[in-house]
Amino acid sequence: MKVLVINSGSSSLKYQLYDMTDESVLAKGLVERIGMESSILNHKPTGGQEVTEVKEILEHNTAIRKVLAMLTDSEHGVIESIDEIDAVGHRVVHGGESFKASALVDDNAKSEIRRLIDLAPLHNPAAMMGITASEANMPGIPMVVVFDTAFHQDMPKKAYLYAIPKVLYNKYKVRRYGFHGTSHEYVSKAAAEFLGQSIEDLKIITCHIGNGGSITAVLGGHSVDTSMGMTPLEGLMMGTRSGDLDPAIVPYVMNKEELTVNEVNSMLNKHSGLLAISGVSSDMREITDGLAEGDPNCTLAFEMYEYRMRKYIGSYAAAMNGVDVIVFTAGVGENSVVVREKVCENLTYLGVEIDDALNAIRSGEPRLISTANSKVKVLVVPTNEELVIARDTYRIVNESK
Ligand code: ADP
Repeated sequence: MKVLVINSGSSSLKYQLYDMTDESVLAKGLVERIGMESSILNHKPTGGQEVTEVKEILEHNTAIRKVLAMLTDSEHGVIESIDEIDAVGHRVVHGGESFKASALVDDNAKSEIRRLIDLAPLHNPAAMMGITASEANMPGIPMVVVFDTAFHQDMPKKAYLYAIPKVLYNKYKVRRYGFHGTSHEYVSKAAAEFLGQSIEDLKIITCHIGNGGSITAVLGGHSVDTSMGMTPLEGLMMGTRSGDLDPAIVPYVMNKEELTVNEVNSMLNKHSGLLAISGVSSDMREITDGLAEGDPNCTLAFEMYEYRMRKYIGSYAAAMNGVDVIVFTAGVGENSVVVREKVCENLTYLGVEIDDALNAIRSGEPRLISTANSKVKVLVVPTNEELVIARDTYRIVNESK
């Protein structure tokens, strides 16, 4: 069975084609700048030549058509015909309270995702464009939606409610949802497997640290708290997002600077975080380069970023009354030796002890970076959200037959 995984953004579309007999990736690629002057399609067939095409791709429908043409291309393709695709899995950011797990795409699911656009105005419309375009170009092929929020739907009320008038939850479902759920679920399971222990017996803190970042407390395999909130803005300091701040700052600044709702949203989501403090970049590589060169702004940005991560790890150890395993994943978590080192350096009170040589190793496999004496096991586990989507799609489509 072959499963096409689609991650559709507002101007981009990422894809991976899986052969589920051995979970191998047959091809993957990315369409960027959809709707802009020159769109770019980058296609990588496994074991074959990477191709990049620059052409006009005005909307998602054309993007999907080009992707399907590339997958079936006589030179760069990996399948003979679209009919070989047995199912399509779509990543959807917000599943609200409606989706506690992945689901088959039907009229009901689609209208629910549309209803949730109110909660995720930037993300869910893009996912819907990907779904609609896929349906138009692959009629009759079963599709599944996989949500970033679903894993966190187990959180207890005390973790997901905000201490504001209840009417806001009752009327508008204002609450913590949490994001990166597929990644937190995947790496927590992979960590338990790697350690040869049952996840039911473990208190795990998973740190998904990429451009966006979130930390989750995983108790017995369930998310019991997570740092992102109703939107992906809450929690950690991120590349361009502020993370936590005193909510009173928002009306104060809006008033002083005469900012509109859109402007303040844009300030907190796009012009804050590492970028704002360093004045240099939102990319951790440039921040750590600046740190190594003694740049004071990069140093401060790095310290604030690492400090916030450490505070969340401490608070989730408190939430679970302990921690057995800490997992680092995503772009920064998997690659930045210095972020891991600095975060763990100040967690000795929890019994964390990092082995510097193990921490410095690079590999695409799950690995231990703590010493044999460390009370808490610290792991780096490469995340694989696409594989989770492919697996869920495969399982749900088979179950529905
Ligand atoms: P996204 O949230 O967009 O999925 P990723 O998980 O791909 O992001 O992470 C992207 C970030 O990872 C980059 O912005 C960069 O800061 C960071 N990163 C990638 N490689 C390294 C590295 N070698 N060292 C430090 N940071 C890195």
